[in-house]
Amino acid sequence: MNKKFDVIVIGGGPAGYVAAIRAAQLGLSTACIEKWVGKQGEPALGGTCLNVGCIPSKALLESSHWYSIAQNELADHGVRTDKVRLELGQMLQRKDKIVSALTQGIEQLFKANKITWLQGHGRLLANKQIEVTSREGKQTIYDAENVIIASGSVPIEIPSARYTENLIVDSTGALEFNEVPKRLGVIGAGVIGLELGTVWRRLGAEVVVLEAMEDFLVMADKQIAAESLKIFQKQGLEIHLCTRVTSSEIKNKRVAINYQDKSGDHNITVDKLIVAVGRRPNTDNLAAAEAELLLDERGFVHVDEQCRTTLPGVYAIGDVVRGPMLAHKGSEEGMMVAELIAGNHASVNYNTIPSVIYTHPEISWVGKTEEELKASGIEYIVGTFPFTASGRARALGDTAGMVKILADRASDRILGVHILGAHSSELIAQAVIAMEFGSSAEDLALTVFAHPTLSEAVHEAALSVHGRALHTVQHRK
Ligand code: FAD
Ligand code: NAD
Repeated sequence: MNKKFDVIVIGGGPAGYVAAIRAAQLGLSTACIEKWVGKQGEPALGGTCLNVGCIPSKALLESSHWYSIAQNELADHGVRTDKVRLELGQMLQRKDKIVSALTQGIEQLFKANKITWLQGHGRLLANKQIEVTSREGKQTIYDAENVIIASGSVPIEIPSARYTENLIVDSTGALEFNEVPKRLGVIGAGVIGLELGTVWRRLGAEVVVLEAMEDFLVMADKQIAAESLKIFQKQGLEIHLCTRVTSSEIKNKRVAINYQDKSGDHNITVDKLIVAVGRRPNTDNLAAAEAELLLDERGFVHVDEQCRTTLPGVYAIGDVVRGPMLAHKGSEEGMMVAELIAGNHASVNYNTIPSVIYTHPEISWVGKTEEELKASGIEYIVGTFPFTASGRARALGDTAGMVKILADRASDRILGVHILGAHSSELIAQAVIAMEFGSSAEDLALTVFAHPTLSEAVHEAALSVHGRALHTVQHRK
């Protein structure tokens, strides 16, 4: 009989590994089942986020940003360099090194916290038993007092552009091109399409993005989305909205794509095609029928507000359950569930989960958009401040975008903050903290911000809610 654990986590991504660490910190005997195998055939923790998601994509965004700065902007600072050359191999290696340092770091944290890593595929059986199948096919059954499912998500495939080795790829393939495609197609102008499209555009590819929706970035505030669309088009992303890819085929090692839009049928040929049309919950071979794990109508594991499934002692967190597919959302759920198992009170505030798109400028937001407030009939006031009026943004040479704050008209409570601008992924944290503490726009307006900083734009936007912004012409409200 194998050891019975207090907690077994299925999946070692940012939801699962965080749940395991917190459970172990709370004194619970904990195991985590993870089957990921890295590029060199080595088992790896960290899930999508560390291996092929957040981290490698941000490494490439950073490297390609510097390449673009060196090529296009350094001269403006009076810094002359010899002809700038791209060493793509070095750029990819740097990314891989960052990934392995971080995944090995999680392994060390597991050791330090005495978490047992069960390498292989986990499958939930009845009565909180779990079968683990190793890479060699050996099966072992473990018992657990509590199970946390954190099996994540996988890319969606569409019939009109099936993945093919190296030519029609998902986001993972798009992190690995060994040369810059001359012409790159992207299906889906969502987060992945924009971030990875941007990487390859900066490195010299002509990028054509085909998006199904009529509106650009429907999840973002409309004003911010419209402003960012103009900027991305200026950067050379050719974005076609309201399109439908009808078929694609490989011809002479290139991809011929047929698509339709309002003006009719079109075809384009590209060297590589990235399909980034969303991800689906990963429940493949996750539970035996006798486990009776309930999925919802969209295939996510069904959970309540506190991530309890319908099975007592079985929880599910991260991308495999409802809500935004974001690493930090899954990690928060992981911490919450570990606390609940230990008998503590815990909850996640789903109203203050920030979203960021790491293009340049970055698009960041938290809370409601103007459109959502209108739709729900909530009376609100808007304060905005453009980065062109920020001294620090001028010094950086990064003046695109604005801060926009939406506050409740009656109570002045902040309901949403939207920032398009350099480093907005960092600035948005101020808004998250303010909202978490139930702050009003006036509270932010009365707070002192260091000068000269980009954060002053957040201050000015808060002042602007009541018509008092100082460094832009303000009409009295
Ligand atoms: P995952 O990270 O998918 O981890 C699940 C793990 O479970 C995997 O390692 C898998 O091998 C394992 N597993 C699954 N089933 C089993 C099983 N039956 N047995 C054993 N192991 C199993 N989010 C952000 O917040 N910020 C970003 O900047 C960001 N960038 C991204 C960029 C890209 C290109 C992609 C693809 C995603 C990005 N995301 C980002 C999303 C983020 O990666 C996910 O939201 C996050 O990884 C979800 O965490 P998770 O733990 O729920 O699942
Ligand atoms: P997404 O939902 O962000 O975007 C998918 C886009 O594809 C949408 O605009 C959608 O309208 C479009 N689309 C869907 N079907 C289509 C079709 N047949 N033809 C053309 N367009 C189509 O999904 P994604 O970009 O694949 O990313 C997946 C998940 O990963 C997201 O939920 C996101 O939260 C997460 N992610 C987050 C980050 C980040 O936080 N910075 C980065 C990358 C990925």
